Amino acid sequence: MSWLERIQAIEEFEDAEFDPTLVKAFEAAAVAHPIRFSTPTFKEYASSELQGCGKNSFPAFSITAGGCALMCDHCEAKILEPMIPATSPEMLDRKVRDLVLLQDLQGFLLSGGSNRRNEIAYERFYPVLQGLKRDFPHLRIAIHTALTDETRARRMADSGVDTAMMDVIGAEETIRDVYHLDRPVDDFEATLAALSSTTMEIVPHIVIGLHYGRILGETNALDIVSRHRTQALVLVVVMPFYASKGTFLTPSTTDVGRIFQSARARLPDRQVLLGCARPPGMHKRITDAYAVMAGLDGIAFPADGAVAVAEAIGRPSQQEHACCSIKLGAPTSVQSSYAA
Ligand code: SF4
Repeated sequence: MSWLERIQAIEEFEDAEFDPTLVKAFEAAAVAHPIRFSTPTFKEYASSELQGCGKNSFPAFSITAGGCALMCDHCEAKILEPMIPATSPEMLDRKVRDLVLLQDLQGFLLSGGSNRRNEIAYERFYPVLQGLKRDFPHLRIAIHTALTDETRARRMADSGVDTAMMDVIGAEETIRDVYHLDRPVDDFEATLAALSSTTMEIVPHIVIGLHYGRILGETNALDIVSRHRTQALVLVVVMPFYASKGTFLTPSTTDVGRIFQSARARLPDRQVLLGCARPPGMHKRITDAYAVMAGLDGIAFPADGAVAVAEAIGRPSQQEHACCSIKLGAPTSVQSSYAA
């Protein structure tokens, strides 16, 4: 049976329309390594195949609460809303220590809105990070860096940050129009180079469809990532739901699948992961099915059907409770009702 036939036999894909050419290409380049299904806890989560963690073991903090000066068209600061506000170093210190005591905190993501130059001023929080790392060496700390330079990247690393994440944008038009930012693509590459020169794990993100739902700078962004020392690449798909009505199209699942294919081909020896953000519903089911077939290494909050697709094409899978970019704790085998 071809992959397409096997997948169409899965209940969750009864009404799904797959691109046969794309599925055939995935099958021709099939990979057999395991896929990780991650269920971090900064979002409510449950699918019929996997359980959410239920504990606050890897929360996200925002140092600006809901505030952001950039107000990019695709986000308008909405990504910050579910994060825990930590607008002063003392607040961050207290909240993290409470969570370590009460909820067995394993690590956290530090984020925030940016200034008009797409920079985030984390410096005053570094003494707190150092103290937390000293007292709880097991904590894994990730940070959304935004744009930065080598000196500031080094200070970030020295404060104990384990993992640095940034969005890589490959088209000047997208930076200008979507981000309202007057900085060249080169500044994004320079930031990646600066981060890569430190001891931190570097996990760049690419937002597929960032240019109002069109594919524009993604391939260039993949090239930029491939030129630097990065541990993993996280791909997410733009969500028109967050943007002002009518400004963004939803990228087609075929376009998204093709980017998965290019990412896998360009970064054969590095982790390529599908991150939390992507449009919901059948779009998400098909996207996740493509991610499994394309040979990506992990999916955050997998949609119903993803585990079944892995089984149908013979890829082993594991579940773990952590941000998809950070390996935390022992993975647990996925229990599934689907026969291989
Ligand atoms: S993507 Fe970041 S910088 Fe842009 S609006 Fe959202 S929080 Fe602000």
